[in-house]
Amino acid sequence: MFPLVTWFRGLLLVALSTLSLQVLAFDQYGRWLDLTPPIANDSGSYFAAIAEQPTGNGVKLTGGTFWYGMHLSLAQPEELVIDFRNTFVLASFTHYIFDQDGELIERVQGGVTDPTRGEFFLRHGQSLNLAAGEYRILTRLDSPYFIAVPEPYLQSYDQYQSSTRVPIAITLAGLGIFFALGFYYVVMGLWRRSLGDILYAGFIVGNLVFNSASHLVLRDLFGITGFHLTSVPILFSNVAYIGFVMILLGISQKRSPRFFYVGIVVISVMMLFWPVALLQPQWSLELARYGVGMFALYGLSCGIAQALRRNKVAYFYLVANVAFAIPAFFTISLRNISIADTFLIEHLGLISVGLEVLLLAQVMSYQVGLVYREREQRIREAQQAVRLARESVLAKERFLANMSHELRTPLNAIHGTVELLKSQPLELRFRRQLDTIHQSSKFLLYLINDILDLAKMNAGKMKVVKAPFDLDRMLQNVCDLYRSNNELKEIDLLIAVAPDVPSVVMGDESRLKQVLANLLSNAYKFTDEGGIRIDVRLDSDDQLYFAVVDTGIGIAPEDHDSIFDAFTQVDDSTVRRHGGAGLGLQICSRLVHMMDGELHVTSKPGEGSTFHFTLPKHNHPVAKTNIEKTIGILYATHWQEMAELAEQDLIGMGANIVLMECLDQAYTDDLEVEHWLVFSRHYDSDLLARLRATNGNVLWFLPESVVYDLPIMPGVEFEAAPYGRYHLRRWIGSPVNTTPISPVTESLQNTQIVAVDDNPINLRVVTALLEKLGATVHGFDNALRAIDYIRQHSVDLILMDIQMPELDGLQASERLRAQGFSQPIVAFTANVSMRDREACTASGMNDVLVKPVRMEQLRSTVHKWVLR
Ligand code: ADP
Repeated sequence: MFPLVTWFRGLLLVALSTLSLQVLAFDQYGRWLDLTPPIANDSGSYFAAIAEQPTGNGVKLTGGTFWYGMHLSLAQPEELVIDFRNTFVLASFTHYIFDQDGELIERVQGGVTDPTRGEFFLRHGQSLNLAAGEYRILTRLDSPYFIAVPEPYLQSYDQYQSSTRVPIAITLAGLGIFFALGFYYVVMGLWRRSLGDILYAGFIVGNLVFNSASHLVLRDLFGITGFHLTSVPILFSNVAYIGFVMILLGISQKRSPRFFYVGIVVISVMMLFWPVALLQPQWSLELARYGVGMFALYGLSCGIAQALRRNKVAYFYLVANVAFAIPAFFTISLRNISIADTFLIEHLGLISVGLEVLLLAQVMSYQVGLVYREREQRIREAQQAVRLARESVLAKERFLANMSHELRTPLNAIHGTVELLKSQPLELRFRRQLDTIHQSSKFLLYLINDILDLAKMNAGKMKVVKAPFDLDRMLQNVCDLYRSNNELKEIDLLIAVAPDVPSVVMGDESRLKQVLANLLSNAYKFTDEGGIRIDVRLDSDDQLYFAVVDTGIGIAPEDHDSIFDAFTQVDDSTVRRHGGAGLGLQICSRLVHMMDGELHVTSKPGEGSTFHFTLPKHNHPVAKTNIEKTIGILYATHWQEMAELAEQDLIGMGANIVLMECLDQAYTDDLEVEHWLVFSRHYDSDLLARLRATNGNVLWFLPESVVYDLPIMPGVEFEAAPYGRYHLRRWIGSPVNTTPISPVTESLQNTQIVAVDDNPINLRVVTALLEKLGATVHGFDNALRAIDYIRQHSVDLILMDIQMPELDGLQASERLRAQGFSQPIVAFTANVSMRDREACTASGMNDVLVKPVRMEQLRSTVHKWVLR
């Protein structure tokens, strides 16, 4: 609304200034003369011509040279201004002023192409100081074309000054609007890459140039006198307008084919105007006039058509178009304008286009608002979709977690039952069938774990933690896991930890363990002879370097990248033999990445593979183990490497070492040795007796198959190979064992264990396994009943399921701890996430056994806690 008020006020002022022109203190009378060809250049004949020459036809809009003669009668001396009515688009003019005697007393000239700045800013007016008397004034006009008829007239100086104020203000305001909006839409168009904005900016800029030239701004401010600037830019702006209207109103080939094709034709015709204007300059303004008529009409008809289709933008556009079209119609058709002498046809044109530009800006703002609201709506919809997707991912994750729990529980039962059955004397064929069931359930369990991990990673739920952990113990756990999973092949495993690797580091123990266990299990799968080793050392950047090296089948170079993709396996036949779903390496690689490392492979077919990665080392301060003792190391040749690793570690701890090969002949009597480390594949009771005779403690590494059948003796520890620093640290730090000699299977005799599981099969399985270990087991399918029993009896260990109705394992553990129960409680669960482990610890539990539980795990865990 605001611009409309401004324009009306401007019009009112123009009208008022017209009134002031009525008071004239002199007479003037003029007419067009028929002076072609121009008369001779002497003032007498000019003077005579004014009175004598016949009246001419006046100015032709397509230009030429024209003459105008005026009589002026002054009763008193006057200061006057001579200017033109109707238009100031004229290339050049000359006024000749004669006195009543025919003397040429003054000659003034000007015009758009005249580089001398006029006496009045933005006007052609020239002042004349004349005494009382009669005068004749002859005006010569030379111009290639006119907008309207430039008719000379005289006005008193003061009146002229005051009556030009409003038109000049209109000029400046109009150009200011063009400049500001033109600039704005050029920037917006380029920024938003919107053709509509750019075309609209083109339309405005065309009008800006045209009006700056025709209103003498270019000449008076910048000295630019190009006359064709007053027509040619309009030819361009007309084309831009048609394109803009088509975009604004959505005129496309598909939606409004008729208007689309008419638009294309109109644009083509208008573009033809350009060369014509170049060749026939006198027609350029006429062509611009037709162009304005055409675009106004085209805009009007498109506007109406689209408004009839209930296009809201079209309603507003129509208002702008009509506001423009009415004054524009007068601008292009009037030859004379009689609002006021100083108010010219160019002012009317400026007002009409200015009005349209402002109203169109409003239309475009409205349209942008529509687009913005639409986008907001779409963003809201997208956010809603994201929320739904997130919820569905969560639901999927929950489903997976529940499913994996539900799947693990029956698997546990299958697994345990099979293990029980396998320990019975069975026919070979049944044993083979049992092996098949056993392998399948094992594979199914891996698969469930992998899919669960992958789902967690995809949902962004897998987090790595950074906490101090015992690297030696972790490596030992990896080894235990490996051993318990792989029984059939005779492949040596070596853990080679460089002595300078700290034993306690910061990081995510369980994730690192998962990666190494996975790589180790692959190495085992794809290696039939030779050995496997885990290398841990510090690299040149002081980072922790881990490698799992095997001497297996190797991987062809072209497969080195693809094996890290999910569900990718190199060779179907090997995989069929070994099982696996192709998820392991993808999980490992992502886990290593989460720990700020990168998993790589170097491998040659037939020569084995090395999977390696480095992780940032964050030390955690640990007290240095210091042993100033003499330790004897005895080894059989095949385990020399292990013996040497132990030697390095012990030297690092400050011990004196006596290293001896060949166990049979080892001469031990004279040595002042406090401890013995032995590495051999066979147990030799004579050797043990000899070593014990030196009064030293013995730590003996043997194959796992041998270790469990050996008796427990004071001062002697048997460990399953491979050697690890963890064993050494534990052994050095432990007091001398004085328990009486007893076979391992008997060691759980008189041990009272309470097992709680709501699943009767699971309970039966775990009870049977524990009983096989020699323990006395009291099974309960309900935690409340179990607590009642524990309160009244002496119990050495509790094995408890987590998910149970009524009172779950965590609550039961909290309750028992609150009641002062101090014996170990071990969780027995299918949930294996870090959070679950933390929850177990928080509730007062000491350890976690993952279902399906295996004989070896059960044995080592129970031993660990019962025989502490
Ligand atoms: P899978 O569970 O099937 O073993 P992985 O992602 O762990 O899946 O491994 C993908 C493939 O990479 C394997 O099927 C195998 O072809 C190859 N591969 C992985 N580790 C080794 C290795 N140590 N030696 C040879 N091939 C390997």
